[in-house]
Amino acid sequence: MTDIPAIRETLLATVAQSNAPQEVLRAPEFRKLYAQIPALPAEERGAFGQAVNELKTAIEAAVDARQAELDQVDVAPIDVTAPFDVNATRPNLLPAENGSEHPLTREMTIISDIFTRMGFVAEESREIDDQFHMFESLNFPKGHPARDDYDTFMTTQVDQNGDSFVAPAHTSTMQHRLLVQYRDMLAQGEPIAALVPDRVFRNEDLDAKHEHTFYQVEGIYVGKSINVGNLVATLQTFLEEYYGRKLNVRINPFYFPFTEPSFEFALECPFCENGCSVCSGSKWVELLGCGMIHPNVLRAANIDPAEYTGFAFGCGIDRLVMMKYQIEDIRNLESGKLDFLRQF
Ligand SMILES: [Zn+2]
Repeated sequence: MTDIPAIRETLLATVAQSNAPQEVLRAPEFRKLYAQIPALPAEERGAFGQAVNELKTAIEAAVDARQAELDQVDVAPIDVTAPFDVNATRPNLLPAENGSEHPLTREMTIISDIFTRMGFVAEESREIDDQFHMFESLNFPKGHPARDDYDTFMTTQVDQNGDSFVAPAHTSTMQHRLLVQYRDMLAQGEPIAALVPDRVFRNEDLDAKHEHTFYQVEGIYVGKSINVGNLVATLQTFLEEYYGRKLNVRINPFYFPFTEPSFEFALECPFCENGCSVCSGSKWVELLGCGMIHPNVLRAANIDPAEYTGFAFGCGIDRLVMMKYQIEDIRNLESGKLDFLRQF
C-alpha cells in the first residue's frame, strides 16, 4: 500500500526549499499515484482517489505559499559599477587597469611649477599660426635666409597676404603676443615674465633624436636693466631645481635672428663625472637656445628698447625628460606604446 502521508511530507519539504516550487506539481510521485488508481479494487478506488486529490490540493497550496514568499524577498539592486563580482560571497576583484599621466604631461607640470614659483605666468601656444608671428615679428623679414633653417609644415590655404599658415616650429611664435599682452606691466614698474610650454612641429627625417612633433618651453623676461647675468642665473636655477642637484653651466655664442647676443646653453652632464652616453663623453650637454631679446622684436611690440631689455630662451622638453629618465629614443614619447608608458 502506498504511504500517502510519507509522500506528502517529502513533497512539502521539497516545496519549502525550492526556488521553482511549481515544478514539484510535476513530480513523478503524482504520476505514480494516478497510475495506481485503475489497478485498485473498485471498493478502494474512491477513497484512494480522494486521498490523492487532497494531497494534490495541499501541495498546490504549499506551492502558492512558497511562490508568494519568494516574490517578497527583497532583491538588492546590483551595482554594475562595483569593481568586484556582486554575486560572490566575498568580493573577488575583477582585473582592472588604471591609466596614468603621460610622462611629458607630468614633466611639463613640474617645469611650469618651477617657473611659476620664480614669478612666471604660463600661457598656451597654438597649433597653427601665421607667418607674421612665426617669422616677421621675430626679426625674420621675408626672404631672410634663417627662415630656411626651420623645416616647417605649411598649409595650402593662404591668408590675406597670400602667405601659407604654419604649424609652429618653435614656441617663440608666441613671443610677440606675450609682449603685447603684458606690455602694460612695464608702465606699472613690473617685469614681463611669461612661459609657454607647448607642442611644436618640424618636417624632420625621423630617427632616435628627431621627431616631427615635440614640446618646447619658451620663456621671456623683460624689465629695466635686465642683462645676460639674469638669463644665466634664471636658467641655472631652473635646471638645478629640475635635476635636483648643483650644476655647472656654460654659454657659447650662437645665432638667432630674434636675440642679440644669442647663446647656446650647455650644462655639465648631470649623469657622469667622466663622460657617458648622454653627453657623448664630453661631460657637457648642449641643451637650449637663448639670448637677449633683439631690439627689433621689442619695437615690433611697441616696447622701447632704450628703456627696457629682456631675455628669451627656448628649451626642448622632450630632451630634458629623456635625459632625466635616460630614454634613448624620442619616438617612444609619441608612440603610445603601453610597455613604454607603464614604466612611468
Ligand atoms: Zn655624461
